[in-house]
Amino acid sequence: MKQEQIDKLRGVPVPEQALFIAGGRRPAIRGGSREVVSPLDGAALTRLAEGEAADVDIAVSAARAAFDKGGWSKASPGERKKVMHRIADLIEGNALEIAVLGVRDNGTEISMALKAEPGSAANTFRYYAELADKIYGEIAPTPDSVLGLVHHEPVGVVGVIVPWNFPLMIGAWKIAPALAAGNSVVVKPAEVASLSLLRLAELCSEAGLPDGVLNVVTGQGSVVGEAIGLHPDIDVLAFTGSGGVGRRLLEYSARSNLKRVYLELGGKSPNIVFADAPDLDQAAKTAAYGIFRNSGQVCVAGSRLLVERSIHKEFSEKVSAIAGTIKVGDPLDLTTEAGAIASEDQLKKNLEHVARAQAQGAELRAGGNRILQATGGYFMSPTVFDGVTLEMTLFREEVFGPVLAITPFEDEADAIRIANSTAYGLASGVWTANLSRAHRMVRAIRAGVVHVNTYGGSDITVPLGGVGQSGNGHDKSPHALDKYLNLKTAWVQL
Ligand code: NAD
Repeated sequence: MKQEQIDKLRGVPVPEQALFIAGGRRPAIRGGSREVVSPLDGAALTRLAEGEAADVDIAVSAARAAFDKGGWSKASPGERKKVMHRIADLIEGNALEIAVLGVRDNGTEISMALKAEPGSAANTFRYYAELADKIYGEIAPTPDSVLGLVHHEPVGVVGVIVPWNFPLMIGAWKIAPALAAGNSVVVKPAEVASLSLLRLAELCSEAGLPDGVLNVVTGQGSVVGEAIGLHPDIDVLAFTGSGGVGRRLLEYSARSNLKRVYLELGGKSPNIVFADAPDLDQAAKTAAYGIFRNSGQVCVAGSRLLVERSIHKEFSEKVSAIAGTIKVGDPLDLTTEAGAIASEDQLKKNLEHVARAQAQGAELRAGGNRILQATGGYFMSPTVFDGVTLEMTLFREEVFGPVLAITPFEDEADAIRIANSTAYGLASGVWTANLSRAHRMVRAIRAGVVHVNTYGGSDITVPLGGVGQSGNGHDKSPHALDKYLNLKTAWVQL
């Protein structure tokens, strides 16, 4: 990828964005729209349709009609597979344009966005395209006099609500398996990162996805998101975002039609470094990049660094030094290592966390402030706090920004106790050369993923999901398909 290709796209005007319903763009029913501000410079990027509950009704009706018509839900799995591969082709063919659009919208550094957004989304569509014709039913081990068949059926209409970090990647993790299973989908992107998902819907249409099978309604979470949560004709809701909104979605389900709600929530993931780690320099570098890439706006970010007491001081210094060298800045520069904070509001929240941590006695070792203010954009320096105790807010609450909390531990049991001392359980890491200890830690840590002698690696073949207040569902891998399928038993007397 050449910098010049990116630079050609950086100033291209973005037309006003309408909703995407029933195969085409349409304005919000009451004509509402709102300015989209780019976190790169704080300037207006475009206007975005502001949907309302009535728009959600229209989108859900379109989705249901498409489902009932059967153009997708009853298409042969082989047909669905072909269309989904075409979607992947189109994402790849337009990867740079989509990535730049997304970066201008949410500020992720382009080097990461290219891989994590169109790159990952195309791969996800291919993966579930290949699974579309491998969803087998079952024959139950019944007595000879009957035949027990278990059918796997699409659920119907799936609601998808996603956050502003990696909207395309996370959106694809839900949309692709839902489509592979034959469902129709209504998506609500985050207010500050809607553009790439609207573009995805256009590409899906171009690839031959029938009208109404994929719809995108933009707008406020408290309006459009709530309407999706309460809608009586949405069968399954797949959500990624904060725990607070996750709780509301469970309430909406209880108050409406008891739709199944899958929650992928936040984390406060521990990255645990023992003194016998195979390479402490590598561990320090990986720990720093594991929290500071995308300015910490990564659900699995290793935001708590637990370090064995005997190496704690030296290791903390190493990580703080690396934090100071990370290149924060223009998200459209290929050499930038950490881009912008997605919104001014989030930047303010991050800085409040810094002030609170200082007030509670944590020791600031690096960063802690807004930087590059002259650009008009929302940038923050990679921030390291040491001496973070279990009582401090920074130990317990997710910042979702470039803020690392370091806590020393005494031994293996202490590391496990400290690691498991939050309400979350999303990701984790363990650094040790002791194989037995590594496996003991994998068993002992309450989390959806434990990285060993690395941090943050993953691909589409393995599930991603949390335990505790990190959620109840899994994206990725064949397991994700289960969310979008119903089991039906046929009990046949022979
Ligand atoms: P958020 O919960 O504020 O918003 C997520 C989505 O919910 C947005 O589209 C928003 O508009 C919508 N929403 C807001 N209020 C709503 C309501 N009342 N009803 C329905 N929908 C509503 O989260 P965010 O700030 O966009 O994203 C950051 C959070 O997402 C962090 O907690 C992060 O850890 C989490 N996250 C988790 C994963 C994962 O895989 N577990 C991945 C990425 C991000």
